[in-house]
Amino acid sequence: MLKILLIFFNLFAFCGFAQEKNIILVVDAGHGGYDPGTERSHKKFKHEKDIVLAISLKINKILENQYDKLEIIYTRQKDVFVSLEDRVFIANDKPADFFVSLHCNSNPNSSISGVQIHIHHESFSKSELLAKTIEKELTEKAKRISRGILNYKDRDQHLFVLQNTKMSSVLVEMGFLSNSEEEKYLNSEAGQQEIAEAIASGMVKYAEKIGLKTKASKSGKKVFKVQIKASDKKMALDHKFFEKLKMEVEESFSSKEDDILPYKYSVGNS
Ligand SMILES: [Zn+2]
Repeated sequence: MLKILLIFFNLFAFCGFAQEKNIILVVDAGHGGYDPGTERSHKKFKHEKDIVLAISLKINKILENQYDKLEIIYTRQKDVFVSLEDRVFIANDKPADFFVSLHCNSNPNSSISGVQIHIHHESFSKSELLAKTIEKELTEKAKRISRGILNYKDRDQHLFVLQNTKMSSVLVEMGFLSNSEEEKYLNSEAGQQEIAEAIASGMVKYAEKIGLKTKASKSGKKVFKVQIKASDKKMALDHKFFEKLKMEVEESFSSKEDDILPYKYSVGNS
C-alpha cells in the first residue's frame, strides 16, 4: 500500500489533475465564392464548391448536438470564398485536434473513379490513422472504392492546408466529377447523405481514438484524471505496470504530430 501511495505521490507531483477537455474538429469545405473548384459538366449538376458545401452541411446535421465534448468548426457554411491561409489559421489558432478538408476529384481520363485521401508526410502517423479511419467508413458504409492514401511524395505536390495545419489533417477527395457515374452520385441527395454519414462516422471514431467519450457520462459531475504513463506504443491495459495500481486505467491518444508519446494512460473517475 505504501508503495502505491508513493507512486501516486510522484505522479501527482508531476502531472496534477486535468479536467477532461473538448475534442475540436475543423471541417473544411473546399473552394467557394468565385472559386468553383472542378466545374460541372452539365447545367443540371453542381460545381465542386457546391457539392462539398452540401456534404459538409449534412455532416453538420448528423453531428450537431450529438456529442457534448466534440466541438466542430466549419471554415465556411455558405457559398463564400475563404483563402487557404484563413482555413489554416482557423485550425491552428484554436488549436484544433484534427482537420478534415472536403473536395471532389477530376481527371482527364473519365474512366478513373474512387475516393482518395491525402496526408502531408509519410511520417505523419496520426494523420494516417485519421485517413485510414475515414477510408474504412467510406469503403464499408458508402461502398466506395478507395484509390489509397497519398502523401506529398506520392502526388509529387504539397497541399497548402495539409502542409500548414499543425494537427492531424487529411484532405478527402470524395469521388471524381470527371467520371459520369460518380458525378451523378455526388450530385444526388442519397449519395451526398451516404458520403456525409461515412465521413461523420469516421471522424467520430477518430475522435474516440484521441479521447472523446461517446458513451453517456455522469452529467454535472466534474471529471478528474491523472495521467500515469505516456508511451510511443499501445500498451495492454493488463500490463504489469498498471496491475500494481489496482485501478481502472483508461487509454487516450494525442493527435499532435510532434508528440512522440501519443498513447496516454490515466486513472480517475470518468
Ligand atoms: Zn478541390
